[in-house]
Amino acid sequence: MVRLHADPDRCRGTGQCVFVAPDLFDQDDGPEYKVIILDPEPASSQLLLATRAVLACPNLALTVSDG
Ligand code: SF4
Repeated sequence: MVRLHADPDRCRGTGQCVFVAPDLFDQDDGPEYKVIILDPEPASSQLLLATRAVLACPNLALTVSDG
């Protein structure tokens, strides 16, 4: 099972995760535009996409685990 986690203290609201994987991530309405995980346990088929989003975060705010 894939699990996504976001650390709101690290998130700076830059939005790369939403750009890469809009089905998995969104941002709140501000003023800081913190990340919102839309699907914290996505299907295994989403693992590659989730990993791309994790790697795209410049603030290391996201983690993904599988299994
Ligand atoms: S890419 Fe990282 S810092 Fe930017 S909104 Fe997503 S989790 Fe937050």
